[in-house]
Amino acid sequence: MAEWFILPLRNVFPSVVWSGPGADIHLTFDDGPHPAATPVVLEILRRYHVRATFFLVGERVQKYPEIVQAIVADGHAVGNHTYSHRSVMFRSTGKVRDEVRRCNEAILESGGPRPSMFRPPHGVFDPTTPARVRAEGCSTVLFGVNSWDFSRPHPNRIIDRIVRLTRPGDIVLFHDNDVTQDRVEHYLPGSLDGLLSRGHTISLLPS
Ligand SMILES: [Zn+2]
Repeated sequence: MAEWFILPLRNVFPSVVWSGPGADIHLTFDDGPHPAATPVVLEILRRYHVRATFFLVGERVQKYPEIVQAIVADGHAVGNHTYSHRSVMFRSTGKVRDEVRRCNEAILESGGPRPSMFRPPHGVFDPTTPARVRAEGCSTVLFGVNSWDFSRPHPNRIIDRIVRLTRPGDIVLFHDNDVTQDRVEHYLPGSLDGLLSRGHTISLLPS
């Protein structure tokens, strides 16, 4: 979702979290756990001593529970990114709640904590989504800065974009998935270097 699209939406959906409560920057990684991408991300975050929130897909959690445990062991937070990664837009209440509930159950069964945050797949949702997700115990959390890492830009373009656009309090979106598994090591360290050298503090998004 482009930033010009997010801006008006912030006013329409006041119950949705778009940014952090203070000046810190918050990193988020969608689509994991991924057997190749997630360990690379974890290693980089460890090197920089920063923590992040991983929005997990339930059916992938069932496949790779040990990666969920590795995320949690490193002190990161886990959020809900639906069970099947299908869009929640214009689907029935039952279907949406089922997607959220089954993902929460998968995370709990993997040994992770109960998620309190939900991010809709593809960043799209409709006016009914926040209340449906809230009924399953999660707040809806979007982002202010999209790295567009899933569209395979040159790593330097991702770094430039992150450093140029990120403002105090922003939530930044990255992915740990098939697309980024061979690429994340080429833009994540540079992005973190850029943010830290600009004086930003990176911390875990409070749940
Ligand atoms: Zn996703």
